[in-house]
Amino acid sequence: MALLIDTGLSNWTSDADIARDVLRQMPDADVRTPETIGNANDITMMAVVDLKTNRLSDLPNLKLVQKLGAGVETIVDNPDLPNHVRIARLKPDAPAQGIAEWFLAYILRAQRHMAFHAAAQQRAEWQPKAPTFTPSTVVGVLGLGHIGSRTARMLHAVGFQVMGWSRSPKQIDGITCLHGESALPGLLGQCDHVCAILPSTQQTVGLFDANMLAAMKPGSQLLNAGRGDLIDEQALIEALDRGRLGHAVLDVTCEEPLPKDSPLWRHPAITITPHVSGWHLGDALSDVAENFQRLAAGSPLLHEVDRSRGY
Ligand code: NDP
Repeated sequence: MALLIDTGLSNWTSDADIARDVLRQMPDADVRTPETIGNANDITMMAVVDLKTNRLSDLPNLKLVQKLGAGVETIVDNPDLPNHVRIARLKPDAPAQGIAEWFLAYILRAQRHMAFHAAAQQRAEWQPKAPTFTPSTVVGVLGLGHIGSRTARMLHAVGFQVMGWSRSPKQIDGITCLHGESALPGLLGQCDHVCAILPSTQQTVGLFDANMLAAMKPGSQLLNAGRGDLIDEQALIEALDRGRLGHAVLDVTCEEPLPKDSPLWRHPAITITPHVSGWHLGDALSDVAENFQRLAAGSPLLHEVDRSRGY
C-alpha cells in the first residue's frame, strides 16, 4: 500500500514538502511523489488538487482519491475515475475561518463606505457619509456546511441579522435557516449582502441566472467564494449595469485564472480577488495521514464525499 502525492502545483507547495509533512505523522508509511513513484501497482491512495486522467490508467489498485482541499467537482465529474474508487476531501478550520473573514471584510468595506472614503481622500475632500447600521443589515449565507455555518455564526456574532440556506433543513442558534430551491428567491429579496459558499454540482451550476439575480434586493451586494460556475457572469454584468445589483465581490470565476480580456476585471461594480479567501490549510494534512491509515484498516474515512450527490 502506498500513498502518491501528486498536486501538479508549483505556486502553492511542492509534492515533496507535502510528502515530508505526511511522513512526520506516519514515519513508516510508503509515501511517494511522481518523481519517486516506482511500481505504480503499489499505489492505493492518491492525494491531489485536480485529478489528471492520464495518471488514472497507470494506477490499477487505486482505492481512494484524497482532495487536498474542499471542492471535488473535477474529481466527481471525471469520467475515467472507476466507480469503486472512493473520494475524500479536507475540512480544515483554517480556510473556513479565512473565508468567513473574507466575507466579513468585504461586507464591512461596503457598510463603512471604504472605497468612497479612499476616493475622497485622494481628492483631499472631507465628505461625511453615514455608515450602514449593522443591526438593521440582513446577510444571507448560501451553503451552511463546514464553511457556511462558520460564516453565518461569525456574522451573527458581529451583530448582523443572518439568514442561511442549504439543501437539507438546519438549525443554527440565532440564524433564520431556510432550505430547498423554492425558498431561495424569497430569501434573496430580503438580503443586503448575499454570501455564496456552495459546492459546484448539477444543481448549483448556473443557479444565479438572470431570473435569480432579478430576485435579489435592489442595490444589494453578491459575494461568491464557492465556485465561479454558480453565477452566469454575463447576466451578472447586465444586472449590475441596470443598477439592479449594487456590487459583486468574486473570489472565484468561471475561468481561473481570469483571462486578461474578461470584462469582469474592469467593471466598476465588481471586485475580484484571485481565489485567495481560504488560502491557509492549517494542520489539515494530518487528515491525509489519518485517511491512509483508515483505508488500510478498513475503517470509515474522514470526510468521504457522496459521489452521487457531488459533494
Ligand atoms: P460542505 O460540503 O461542508 O457544505 C456545502 C453546503 O452547501 C451544505 O450546507 C449543503 O447543504 C449546501 N448545498 C449543496 N448543494 C446545495 C443545493 N443544491 N441547494 C442548497 N444548498 C446546497 O462544503 P464546504 O462548506 O466545506 O465548502 C463549500 C464549497 O466552497 C466547496 O465545495 C468549494 O467549492 C468551495 N471552497 C472554496 C474555497 C476558496 O478558496 N474560495 C476554499 C474551500 C472551499 P446540506 O448541508 O443540506 O448538505
